[in-house]
Amino acid sequence: MSFKPFQNKVWLSSPTMHGEELEYIIEAYSTNWMSTVGANINEVEKLTNNYIGCKYSVALSAGTSALHIAMKLAGVKQGDYVFCSDMTFSATVNPVVYEGGIPVFIDSEYETWNMDSKALEKAFELYPDVKVVVIANLYGTPAKVDEIMAICQKHNAILIEDAAESLGATYKGQQTGTFGTYNIISFNGNKIITGSSGGMLLTDDEEAANKARKWSTQSRENAPWYQHEEIGYNYRMSNVIAGVVRGQYKHLDEHIAQKKAIYYRYKEGFKDMPVSMNPFIEDVMEPNYWLSCLIIDKEAMCKQVRGEKEVLYISEPGKSCPTEILETLVKYNAEGRPIWKPMHMQPIFRMNPFITKDGNGRGLSNAYIQGKESVIVNEDIFERGLCLPSDNKMTVEEQDMIIEIIKECFE
Ligand SMILES: *Cc1c(COP(=O)(O)O)cnc(C)c1O
Repeated sequence: MSFKPFQNKVWLSSPTMHGEELEYIIEAYSTNWMSTVGANINEVEKLTNNYIGCKYSVALSAGTSALHIAMKLAGVKQGDYVFCSDMTFSATVNPVVYEGGIPVFIDSEYETWNMDSKALEKAFELYPDVKVVVIANLYGTPAKVDEIMAICQKHNAILIEDAAESLGATYKGQQTGTFGTYNIISFNGNKIITGSSGGMLLTDDEEAANKARKWSTQSRENAPWYQHEEIGYNYRMSNVIAGVVRGQYKHLDEHIAQKKAIYYRYKEGFKDMPVSMNPFIEDVMEPNYWLSCLIIDKEAMCKQVRGEKEVLYISEPGKSCPTEILETLVKYNAEGRPIWKPMHMQPIFRMNPFITKDGNGRGLSNAYIQGKESVIVNEDIFERGLCLPSDNKMTVEEQDMIIEIIKECFE
C-alpha cells in the first residue's frame, strides 16, 4: 500500500446534519407533539408538495411502507403479475409480494441503467393483462419515463414510480416522483436527505391520498369508538422524524450540488482509465447524483467469479474488477458497494419471470457472448460495476486519494 489508510472512514453515503433538524425535534418535544400528529408532519408534507410539484404527499414511516400503500392503491391482488425494475433495492419489489402479487422482472438499458422500454414492451406481449408497472430511478438517475409512461398508457397499466433514490432529480425539467399515478420517496439514513428513517407517498389523486392517510393510521372509521371496515397499518411518520426531515429540506439542493461535484471529480479523475461513470442522458435529465458508480470496460476486467455468497478474482496487470476495487477500498478504510444484485438473480425470486429486450430472459446467459454486447444487461452491469464512496462530507483530498487507490488497482 502506497498511502496510509484514512483516519476517518470515508462512507458510501452517510447522514449529513446541519443543526436546524435539532430545533424542530426540540419543538416537537417541548410542545409534546411526540406522536404521529404535529406541525413537523404538516410542514414536511407541504414542503414536499411545493418542492416536487405534486398535489398530495402523505408522510409515512418508510419508503417501503409507502410502496406497500401504493401497491394497495394500484389494486395489486393475490396472483397478479406486476412488472418491476430488476436492478434495484429489494424494497422496490417486496411490497408487491406483501399483497400476494408476483413480480415479473424487466431488464435495464445501458443508457440510464433503468428499466428498458423495449423489454417492457416484450413483457406486455407475453403478459398482456398486467395492470401495474413499478419503476425505480437507480442511484438518482431518472428512467426514460416518457417512453415507459407511453407504454403504460397503451396497455392501460398503472405506473408506480419508486423515487426513493432520486429525490430532486428531474426529467425534462419535471421532478421525479410525479410520473406515476402513485409515487414514493424515502428519508432512510443514507438517502440524499434523511429523517433517520421515513418516507412518503406522492400523488395528485385526492381520494388516494385520503385512503393512504386512513390505512396508515390503522383504518379507523369516523365513529365514537374504534370502528374498522378495512385492514389498517401503523405506517404514519412520527412528528420527531418529521422534524429531522423538515430541517434537512433546506439543504436538499446543497446536498445535490455536493453529490454532483463528487460525480464530476470522479469523471475527470478517471478520464484516462478503462472505466466510465454511471450514465445519464444529458439535456434530457438531471440526476440528483446520489451515488457515483463506475463500470469497468469489458477488456479491462480481470477474471472474477461470483458464487451465491462468495467471490474470487485473479489480479492482472492493466486490469481489475469490482471485487478487487471494493476490497482495496476496505483496506484503506473507505466504503464502496457492489451494484444492487439484480432481483432475477436472487434466490428468493428464482421462480419469477424475467424479461429482456429479446423476450424470456430465463434461458439466456451472458457466458456465451464474451466480447459482444450482453444479452442480459443487468447481469453485465452487476458484473462490471460498483458504487464509489459518495459521501457529501468527503473532502477533495480524500476523493483524490480514492481515485489514486482505484488507479493502482489497474497497475
Ligand atoms: C431506500 C430504498 C427504498 C426503501 O426506502 P426505506 O425508506 O428504506 O423503506 C425503496 N426503493 C429504493 C430503490 C431504495 O433505494
